[in-house]
Amino acid sequence: MSDQVAPGIVFRRIHRELNAIHFCIEGLERLPRQLKAQQNRVVTAEKTRTDTADFLKKTKVDQHQTEVSLRQLIALMEKYLRQLDESSDPKVFTALTHELATTKKKIGETEDKVLELMTIIDETAPKVPELEKGIQKAKTDLGDFEKEAGTKKSDLESLLVDHKNRLAELEPLIPSEFAQGYFRTKKATFQDCLSSVADKTCNACQVTITSQMQNEIDDNRYVTCKSCGRILYQPGTD
Ligand SMILES: [Zn+2]
Repeated sequence: MSDQVAPGIVFRRIHRELNAIHFCIEGLERLPRQLKAQQNRVVTAEKTRTDTADFLKKTKVDQHQTEVSLRQLIALMEKYLRQLDESSDPKVFTALTHELATTKKKIGETEDKVLELMTIIDETAPKVPELEKGIQKAKTDLGDFEKEAGTKKSDLESLLVDHKNRLAELEPLIPSEFAQGYFRTKKATFQDCLSSVADKTCNACQVTITSQMQNEIDDNRYVTCKSCGRILYQPGTD
């Protein structure tokens, strides 16, 4: 009874199963990659938060040290000013004036540096809690993904078994003279060993077929594409 089904119909049904199997396998292969990507998001978010917090801490230390230097420079300037007041030696006066100018310049530069560091601190500090939120979000997403992935995996695995079983029922229906060609190309290209035809065109390679071939396909006979070598069949829903 089984070998009474026309090749075109058998191959159409087989192609449906091969496509479904391919879809399941791809989905199952994608899951670990997606999981890894979600895990990497958490790691990256944590690293960014740690780096930013470290940078903030370092900048605060810099700011403190710069303020200490500024106080020392101001004390030095005051010392020079007192010495200038008390000095009567013109040589000492000139030297002190020079030292004073240099110290004032340094004070100006150090004040600028303090302001610059304060600005950096003001800009960086609010980022840390934001980055903390980002970590929590990435962790929540990861947890959600893990839950969904578990369900998705078992769904795909059970679908895969169903489609493999159906394929196993269909393949023995291939007429023996075409079986070898089918199994050979299936081994090499799996679901790409077959293609439907629409408007006298192979849907896989888009090359036009002859009217003779179209007639044979309409008859559900065994036809292969002269361009891509796929076994051709007419579309259908059975
Ligand atoms: Zn083709």
